[in-house]
Amino acid sequence: MKTRFKDKVALITGAGGDIGLATALRLAEEGASIALLDIVEDKLAASKAKVEAKGVRAESYICDVTDANAVKDAVARVIADFGAIDLLFNNAGYQGAFAPVHKYDVEDFARVMDINVTGAFSVLKEVSAHMVERKSGSIVNMASMAGVGGPPNMAAYGASKFAMVGLTETASKDLAPYNIRVNAVSPGLMGPGFMWDRQVKLQSETNTQYFSTDPKQTEKQMIGGVPLRRCGSIDEIPGAVSFLLSDDATYITGVNIRISGG
Ligand code: NAD
Repeated sequence: MKTRFKDKVALITGAGGDIGLATALRLAEEGASIALLDIVEDKLAASKAKVEAKGVRAESYICDVTDANAVKDAVARVIADFGAIDLLFNNAGYQGAFAPVHKYDVEDFARVMDINVTGAFSVLKEVSAHMVERKSGSIVNMASMAGVGGPPNMAAYGASKFAMVGLTETASKDLAPYNIRVNAVSPGLMGPGFMWDRQVKLQSETNTQYFSTDPKQTEKQMIGGVPLRRCGSIDEIPGAVSFLLSDDATYITGVNIRISGG
């Protein structure tokens, strides 16, 4: 086992999902104890079992990140259980609906912002307050290439991920005096996986000039815009997260690493 994160405790939100689990396994392989947080109980239980199989301690916390009191309580429980939080991967997210902006549902817009921005902010706030007391910590926020260039038919998701890039830059400045680094990662088209399948299907159903109504063609159109001409694999994300969280990146804060094939 590598030991870059020996004696470190990592909190991962959205840990029942594809990227959260893949990153939890990577940090566990590098020696970290893992606190897994998600809203979906059975996905969380499956992730916990897989992380424990790596031979590290893992605990799960069912929590809706849009409930600020629940987040405060969950973070307090993680600290009580593990003694501290050294690393945060602030990853829980929701892709939202697919529709052009003039047809986009206001309630869905609010839900996306609530999960991806206010929820991520609540987690960041509670964990960083703990890290400020310890004058130490490293945080990676999950952004997206949708937060670098606004994709069509994704008004809420794009806006939410632009917000995450901004939140990362501001938090990196606010927390620098306390020896806490805050960075972001922005995956592009990652597949296979739940989000890839969902976005190909729903983009093709929008019937707009950007994508075919045939999902197979839509897939080709999307990948055609990627210089490396392929989807990224979910397994190509944890290495960047792990690097930013680690002491290999001690002079890096406020950046957003694009994991996008160019
Ligand atoms: P996923 O749907 O597999 O995982 C997301 C997880 O977040 C799920 O387990 C879900 O239960 C959890 N979650 C959703 N709402 C929550 C809430 N209110 N409280 C707590 N947990 C909640 O998707 P993923 O691909 O693993 O995505 C993880 C993150 O990566 C998201 O923020 C997403 O926007 C971002 N991202 C994904 C891709 C991609 O192509 N997969 C690309 C760029 C960015």
